[in-house]
Amino acid sequence: MTLKSLSSDFTPERCQYRTATGRQCLSPVVDPGSPFCPRHAFAQPSESDDFLAPLTQRACRFQNAAGVNYSLGALYTLLAQGRISPRRATALAYISSLLLRTLPAIDSDLYPHAGKPGFSPNGEPTTQDEIDTATDTTDNTSQSEDTTKSQTPN
Ligand SMILES: [Zn+2]
Repeated sequence: MTLKSLSSDFTPERCQYRTATGRQCLSPVVDPGSPFCPRHAFAQPSESDDFLAPLTQRACRFQNAAGVNYSLGALYTLLAQGRISPRRATALAYISSLLLRTLPAIDSDLYPHAGKPGFSPNGEPTTQDEIDTATDTTDNTSQSEDTTKSQTPN
C-alpha cells in the first residue's frame, strides 16, 4: 500500500493537516520529523502524545477479534483527525493484522498453558513443591529431566 492510496489528493511532502471539509494544507513540510508545516505543528499534538489509552481501552488486550477491531477503529479516527502520522498508523495497523492472524493459531495451540503461572515452559503443570525448590536453589538436574518430557504434548 502506498501513501497515495489513502486519498487521491494526498501529497506526502505537504503538511498533513486537513480542514473540516477534508482539504489538505498547501504548505510544505519543513521539519522531516513532523508531518505538519510549522504553523500546524504548533496547533497539533506531537507524535509523542500518548495514544495508548484510545488504542487499548477496549482492545481486550488484543485477545479477541472484537478487541483488535475496536483498536483499529480508534486508529482510523486518530488518522482521520490528523493526530497520528500515516507512517505510525501503518505500523500499528500492521501489528494489529499480525495479532489478529495469531488468534486462530492460539485456539489450536498444542501447549496452551506453556509459560503461565503453575506451568513449566513446556506447558506441563508444576506442583507447589517444585516451584518452592526452584526458587530456593538452582537445581540443574531436575531441569534436564523436564526436557525429556517436552517431547510429548499434553
Ligand atoms: Zn499546514
